[in-house]
Formats: sequence, structure tokens, C-alpha cells
Amino acid sequence: MTILVRPRALEDFKVREFQLLIDGRWVDGSSGASIERKSPGHGVVVSRYQAATKADAERAIAAARRAFDTGTWCRMTGAERSNILLKAAELIAARSDELAYLDCIESGKPISQAKAELGGAVDIWRYAAALGRDLHGESYNTLGEGTLGVVLREAIGVVSIITPWNFPFLIVSQKLPFALAAGCTAVVKPSELTSGSTLVLGEILMEAGVPAGVVNIVTGTGAEVGAPMTVHPDVDMVSFTGSTLVGKLTMANAAQTLKKVSLELGGKNPQIVFPDAELDDFIDAAVFGAYFNAGECCNAGSRLIIHRDIADDVVARIAAHSAKVKVGDPLDPQTKVGAIITPEHLAKIDGYVRNAATGGANISHGGEPLELGMGQFMSPTILSAVQPDMAVAREEVFGPVLSVLTFETLDEAVRIANSIDYGLSAGVWSRDFDTCLTIGRQVRAGTIWMNTFMDGASELPFGGYKQSGIGRELGRHAVEDYTETKTLNMHLGRRKVVWAS
Ligand code: NAD
Repeated sequence: MTILVRPRALEDFKVREFQLLIDGRWVDGSSGASIERKSPGHGVVVSRYQAATKADAERAIAAARRAFDTGTWCRMTGAERSNILLKAAELIAARSDELAYLDCIESGKPISQAKAELGGAVDIWRYAAALGRDLHGESYNTLGEGTLGVVLREAIGVVSIITPWNFPFLIVSQKLPFALAAGCTAVVKPSELTSGSTLVLGEILMEAGVPAGVVNIVTGTGAEVGAPMTVHPDVDMVSFTGSTLVGKLTMANAAQTLKKVSLELGGKNPQIVFPDAELDDFIDAAVFGAYFNAGECCNAGSRLIIHRDIADDVVARIAAHSAKVKVGDPLDPQTKVGAIITPEHLAKIDGYVRNAATGGANISHGGEPLELGMGQFMSPTILSAVQPDMAVAREEVFGPVLSVLTFETLDEAVRIANSIDYGLSAGVWSRDFDTCLTIGRQVRAGTIWMNTFMDGASELPFGGYKQSGIGRELGRHAVEDYTETKTLNMHLGRRKVVWAS
């Protein structure tokens, strides 16, 4: 059984209307068309964004290029930029209820979680502001009496930032403040399903004192607006978070002009659990890892790799714990699993479950969409007896679906963990230090959690191995990623003529 929180109708709701932010001004898109967003939990239109065109994207890129080339932002001191970013952080904190509400009703995520994400985002803006003041290069005073080498870090230029729908405000906050701290200008395209909070961020940045043209925000589809942002010659770098499929397309597009790319893509993250683990802690983390954000999470712990000796017991306990998870109205503070982003995506999740069951997996919990009178919801689902070659064991389901596999030896666990194309994150559970560290060193993933799962900190780099991406966000790497390296090779005194005399 699943505990259901039936959604209440949004009464007296006023649809929010948004424009584009180009060169410091709020403008309509050139097509006059708009995109309507329905709340996934309530089935009614809540936001209306401009359906921008390629021409709008190009105007935004031109504004970002001008702002970069005239130096209004990149020639400020690090301290000046940092102060503006700190002001932005305070304004985000002040408007965090409004931003969390928008993320909640546009994406279907629970309101309590959306508020926590806003808290995390404020911390990232503050952290990026601090890093911006400390961005520096290197010097070489060891190259001989006549030579001094200085390695500068310079802002890379105009950055296209393209984000997905699953963490609308958090993901733009993992990119934009670092790009700004480095001195870059940006064109930002949020997902066409969840653009609201990114557009409010535009208001905040203007109020904080970010000069016109430094941040431009265009809304619309990937094909119409995103693609031009990845090919345009005036763009120096593309920072993309989304599916591996579109990530590959983005890299191919960017290759036409050899832009730098930073890609945060999909994951199919294993949690490996040994018999000596603290099982009560693990059971809760397994449920959290699989169902957090309705499983619509690149970091979802969607593959459990359990030691055969404890598998039956652990699956039964996870099923019992899953039954306590409250599913339903994203606006209810009790809800832990909200709505699924679109009806089409719900059908895709359901298809994965049906195919797995047909292929021999057991449904140990849930297994079906839930009918709550409005919106679209999926029951937390456990699939056991999953084989490593099944689609649910290898592909990103992006729903609250946990696939359980088993192992006997540590080597086998590592082999199963590493047997797929993704390498974003992984968890290992054991009280034995050697076991944790061996798994930590042998599993090919950008983050390994030991006796915990999906904890994060602004200081810790995040990103993927293999087809989970290229580059790292957060941590020091984040700001450095948005820079070019320039060598100043300086000669002291007269240069001896030695080459042709
Ligand atoms: P998506 O790839 O469909 O879309 C992501 C963004 O790219 C959207 O803004 C979309 O409009 C845009 N886009 C689509 N086609 C484009 C094109 N041809 N050119 C340029 N832009 C284009 O992904 P999604 O469905 O919005 O998000 C879910 C995916 O994001 C999942 O695969 C998930 O794992 C991944 N994700 C990864 C991370 C991470 O940090 N690794 C974080 C969150 C989400």
C-alpha cells in the first residue's frame, strides 16, 4: 500500500506570465507565440512563457557578446562582482518561498523539497561569490634570470547555459554564479517545462546590479532556442545539463566551432550493500535514493546491488519502508513523492516496469501509476530479480523505480556497478573500511557515497565519468571551468640575437 495525499484544486489561481530578458530589458518573443505550463500535480495551467525563436536566441547572444567585449563585467574587480553575487544571494533568500512555489507547481516536486533546494542554491551563490574573489593563476620565477612566466586565468567569454526540468532553480545555480564569478556573460535557456524560477532569477540579478546584457534569459524549445545557442560562433562555451542523448548532440554542435563544453548528463547509480552494513540506515537511504524527486533525478540510486545472503530480507524491509512514503499533492508539506513531469513521461516509466515484469523481474512493491483525481503520479516501485542485462538495470528510467540485483563477491559487485555506460555516482554500505575504500577506488563514478547517499556540499565537485558527462560543477573546479588559461612569457633586458645573424 502507498499513503496517498490527494491534491486539492488550485483555487483562485492567477497564471503567471513571463517575458524574455535580453540586454537588460524584458521583451516579448518575436513570434508572439507562448508556451503554457500545466502543474503536473493539478492538471491546470500555472505559467505562460514566451516561445522564443532562433532570432531571439541570436539577439540574446549578441547582447551577451557586446557585454563581454565592452568589459562591463569582466573588467570589474573580483570584489565588485562578488558583492553583486552576494546581493543576489540575499535577494534569492528573500524570495525563496516564491521561487520554491514556482518550482513546485511547474515541476511537481514536493514543496518541502523545493524549499530545501532553494536553501542549497543560496549557499551555492554565496560560495561562488567567495571563489570569484580568489580566482588566480600562477607565476614561474624559476625559468632563468631573463624570464618570468605568468599564467593568467581569464573569463572564457560568452557562455550558453541550458538546463533541464528536474531541479530548475538548483541547476541554474550550479552554473550561472560560477560563470559570473569568473567574469563571463551568459545566455540562459531553462527547460520549456519549468522556466518560471529562472525568469524570476533574472529580475533578482537586475536588482542586485548585474549590468544589462551580462545575463540574458530566453525560453522555448531545445530545437528552436537551445540548438542555436550551441552552434553560434559568438558563443565560447556551452554548459549543459540534461539527457545523454541531447548532451551528445550538444557536443557535436559545439564541435563545429570547437567550443568548450561542460556536460552533466544521465546516471544509473548503484548502491552496493554488504551484510555487515548498518542496515537500518541503509534501508532509509535506499528509499530516499530511489524515490527522491519521484526518481526524476540524475543521482537517483536506482540500482541496488545487494549481497545475496541478505537480499530477501533487505528487499522485504525496503518494501515495508516504501509503504510509509507519502505520495501526492506537491503543495502538501507532508508529501515526499510528488507528481510526474508529464503524462508522456509517466507512460514511459510505466512501460519500463511492464517490460521488466514481462522479462522476469518481480514487482515487490507498487508497480503502477496512481489515480489521484488530478495530475499524474507513479507509485514507488521495487523490481527484484532484475538481471544486469535488462533495460531497467542499464537505462535511466527517471521515475520512482528501484531495480534490485544481487552479488556474491566484491569483484562481482564492482563488475555489475561498472557494467553500464553511465558513471555519475554510487553508494557503498559496509562497516568495513577496506570494503568501502576498495569499492570507492574501483567503481568508475564521479561521486562515491560511503554509508550515506546523495549528500552534497557546495565545496565538493560533482560530475560524471563515462557517458554521465564531461567537466565538474561545484567546488573550485566550477569557477575555473569558465576560464581560459593565458601564458605571459616575459623577457627581462635585451633579447640576445641567436637565430639568424
Ligand atoms: P533534455 O536533454 O531533454 O533537455 C535538457 C535541456 O536541453 C532543456 O532545456 C531542453 O529544452 C534542451 N534541449 C533539448 N534539445 C536540445 C537541442 N537539440 N539543443 C540544445 N538544447 C536542447 O533533458 P530533460 O528531460 O530536461 O532532463 C532530464 C535529463 O537531465 C535526465 O537524463 C537527467 O539525468 C539529466 N540531468 C543530469 C544532471 C546532472 O547533473 N548530471 C542533473 C539533472 C538532470
